[in-house]
Amino acid sequence: ISEKSTFIVFIFLCVFLWHEYRIVGDDDGGKLFTPEQYEEYKRKVLPARLQNRLYVSWRSPTGMDCKLVGPETLCFCTHRYKQHKTDYEELPKERPISVPCRVKGCPCQSYHFVPLNGTQPVRCRCKHLAEQHSAAPGFPCNSCSKCSGFHSSFTCACGQPAYAHETVVETKEERLAQGKPVGQDVPYAAMGGLTGFSSLAEGYMRLDDSGIGAPSAELLEAPVTSMDHPFLKAFQGPSSSSSATGQVSHRKQSEADDMAYFEKRYQERASYYIYCLI
Ligand SMILES: [Zn+2]
Ligand SMILES: [Zn+2]
Ligand SMILES: [Zn+2]
Ligand SMILES: [Zn+2]
Ligand SMILES: [Zn+2]
Repeated sequence: ISEKSTFIVFIFLCVFLWHEYRIVGDDDGGKLFTPEQYEEYKRKVLPARLQNRLYVSWRSPTGMDCKLVGPETLCFCTHRYKQHKTDYEELPKERPISVPCRVKGCPCQSYHFVPLNGTQPVRCRCKHLAEQHSAAPGFPCNSCSKCSGFHSSFTCACGQPAYAHETVVETKEERLAQGKPVGQDVPYAAMGGLTGFSSLAEGYMRLDDSGIGAPSAELLEAPVTSMDHPFLKAFQGPSSSSSATGQVSHRKQSEADDMAYFEKRYQERASYYIYCLI
């Protein structure tokens, strides 16, 4: 067996394991499901998950989604999004939708995003960090008595203060009604607001208010080079690049179609790459 085919088998194994891991998350409670339990789990959970996905984003008063929350994104309560209740057999009727934390003893009643200032945590106007505040409703400070609840004046890249932003939880229909991207239906747990490669960038980097992003045709159609990540190289089909170039130059589409097309194309090139990074 050549070195190359060994590498490709390894990549597929990696993607397969990642796929299984993303489906189950920590729903198996740390103990691996038996094959029967796993089949039963997939039969029960996956249809509901595909239908009832919740999209979580941190929205500026300008309407831009400055942060699209993914499975590993931290909550005010210090737990990750995937540790919150993200699977719903039926979509909640009440608005706003609450996404409570599932960690035992955690008072968090719904996922709440807190931005970072670069790599530094932001401070409340009482000078204490988010983690020094309680995750119970009102977010009172545990370290002083003058604080009336966590309030950060940190200025987001969109130009608005953090406190003016809102953590938004919404359904696929609610997003579609606003023209926000929903990505493809995926069986993975706790995908939150992630809808494709571009959703990993910050809102202002995506340079539009939808979060869908629109990488240039040159970027999408550039041949995969030795500079690219090995995952991209391993999955680059020999003829996909040239056929897609033909599509780009010949298809006359509305702008919306273009965006969807670019997003899909971008995902094809990058999905294995980003998924292994999450
Ligand atoms: Zn929590
Ligand atoms: Zn929480
Ligand atoms: Zn405070
Ligand atoms: Zn304080
Ligand atoms: Zn912002």
